[in-house]
This record gives sequence, structure tokens and C-alpha cells, in this order.
Amino acid sequence: MNITYVKRIPSVDEIVAEMPCPADVKALKVQRDRQIKDVFEGKDDRFLLIIGPCSADNEASVCDYIGRLARVQEKVADRIIIIPRIYTNKPRTTGGGYKGMVHQPDPEKKTDLYEGIKAIRKLHIKALQEFGMPAADEMLYPENYVYLADVLAYNAIGARSVEDQLHRLTASGVNTPVGMKNPTSGDLSVMLNSITAAQMAHSFIYNKWEVKTAGNPYAHAILRGAVNTQGRNIPNYHYEDLIGLAREYEKRDLKNPAIIVDTNHANSSKRFFEQPRIAGEVLRSRRYDDVLRKMIKGLMIESYLEEGRQDVGGSVYGKSITDACLGWVDSEKLIYDIAESL
Ligand code: PEP
Ligand code: MN
Repeated sequence: MNITYVKRIPSVDEIVAEMPCPADVKALKVQRDRQIKDVFEGKDDRFLLIIGPCSADNEASVCDYIGRLARVQEKVADRIIIIPRIYTNKPRTTGGGYKGMVHQPDPEKKTDLYEGIKAIRKLHIKALQEFGMPAADEMLYPENYVYLADVLAYNAIGARSVEDQLHRLTASGVNTPVGMKNPTSGDLSVMLNSITAAQMAHSFIYNKWEVKTAGNPYAHAILRGAVNTQGRNIPNYHYEDLIGLAREYEKRDLKNPAIIVDTNHANSSKRFFEQPRIAGEVLRSRRYDDVLRKMIKGLMIESYLEEGRQDVGGSVYGKSITDACLGWVDSEKLIYDIAESL
């Protein structure tokens, strides 16, 4: 094989022994997990906001951002559960560019996955311990999930991974909610098949073991818009799209049917500043139709300290180096507006 073995990555037991999740934080995580599951089960009618930068590129600015979110969370706690996005692995459309903190703990330095695994666990534990809000990450590499399994509140399977069997089978063994994004083609059956697969029990090979899973009743849909054969973005957050997905859900025997709407990506044509308008439209559809009110459990929003984006090496603190994000001032206002209009 044309592969060079560079460094042995520590086992999950080794990493957890070196970087344990503190006991008081574990208790808080159990409590938060229960609240989030209650939302999916319809026992808690609070709204979920999965919000944060496209990529968690820098520990200091991400923690600064989450600290601000934590202060807002206290004020809207009766209506909204905030799950910060701490996205440490990034899928790349053509394979090039920054692939996230797991590859490069410092985006301007060379790839170091050994340090990357430690850096992402350190960041997730720090954010959880300092601000009390377990976070969301993308499950890009299913076998790496074990390094964060005890700290994450929420996982998304990305548009480019949702048709992949190992992602689906791994999701079936995760005991927190997993959101399946629609694929970039927009084909809803791929996303619904992925939810079906993740809700089933499976046996497969995982991290060199034969394993069995119980199935994940909290696997659900995330609408992120699509791209047509001409490369044009096709949104799927409008009322007709939401009702269409609700009807598809009704045809299938799935547990806890739920929709999260991603307000950026192909839904905004990456025009980050459209996110408040899109959120407003989704909330209007949700108020208009009772089925949607129950099924739309939340929004996924890309937001950071500074609005827009910059290339790797750009010097603006708290500005995205992947997808363009809403800035803090607009994000804070958006959260209060959402809380008001629920
Ligand atoms: C993301 O959430 O930043 C992302 C890469 O999403 P998608 O898989 O929908 O492109
Ligand atoms: Mn993004």
C-alpha cells in the first residue's frame, strides 16, 4: 500500500485516562442529555438552537464565543436549549484546504492528527466545564467518535457522509441524538433511509471489534438545502418543503420524527446574512401548522464573533476560516427574536 504509518494514535482508554471528563461535568451532561431527549420525545416543548462557527479553529475565540452563548442561554432557558457547535472535523468538497482542528490544532501549522485528537477533546471538555453546555460536532470519521462520546450532546452526519454505511451503523450505537443531513443532491429518501438505518440495531466491525448496537431512536432529519446539476443552490426550508418532509415521515414507521433546519449552506446559498430571515420563515411555518410545530425541533445556525469569513492566515480574531458566519451582534439579537416568536 502506498501509505506511510506516521504515529500510533492512542486508544480511547489511554486518551480518557490522560484527559478524563470531570465527575461534576458528567452529572451535568447526563441532565442536559435528558432534557434534549425530552425535546425529541415531545415531553419538553423548548426549541433547540445548534449554533456556532462553521469550524472550531481556535480554542480561545471558540471559548470566548461559547461564554457569550452561555450568558444568553440563561436568559432564554425557559424557551430555548442552546447546543454550541464545536465542529472539529470539516468535510471538504474537493478534498483540499483546512480539514479542522483534528487535522491541524493550529490552522497555520502542519497536520498533526495525534495532537489533533487531544486538542479536540481538550476543547470539548473545556467548553463543557467552563460554560456547562455540552456541544454538537460533526461525525465525519465514525471511528474517531469514541474520543468524544462521553462529552458530546449532539452529532450531525454531513451531507457528504449521509449515504455511507459505516456512518449509519455507528449512529445506531450513539446514545444521544444524531441529525442526518439531506445529501447535497437534495434527495430526501437518502436522508430518510439513513434515519431508518440508524434507528435499527446492527452488528458490524468497529475499531477492530465485532460490535452490536441497540439502534438510535433519536436519529432525525436536518434540511440544509441542495445543489442542482448546474451547481445552483436549491433551498429546502420553505413551507412546502417542510410539509413534504412531514408527509414522508408519516409514511414511515420512525421513532420521534423530527426536523432541524440548517439556515446556512445551500439554504442561504452561503449568504450568511440571510440566516435571520430564513429562521423567521421557518418559525412562521411552524406556528402556522400544528404538525410542523411538533416536528420542527430546532435550527442549526452558523455564527461566530465576527461576521463573514477570511482565508487561513487571516488575522481577524473570531472570524470563520471556512463558511461565512453571522456575527455576534446579529446572532444575539436572532436568539432573542426566536425566543420571542416561539
Ligand atoms: C457544516 O455543517 O459546516 C457542513 C459542512 O455541513 P454540510 O454537511 O451540510 O455541508
Ligand atoms: Mn459550514
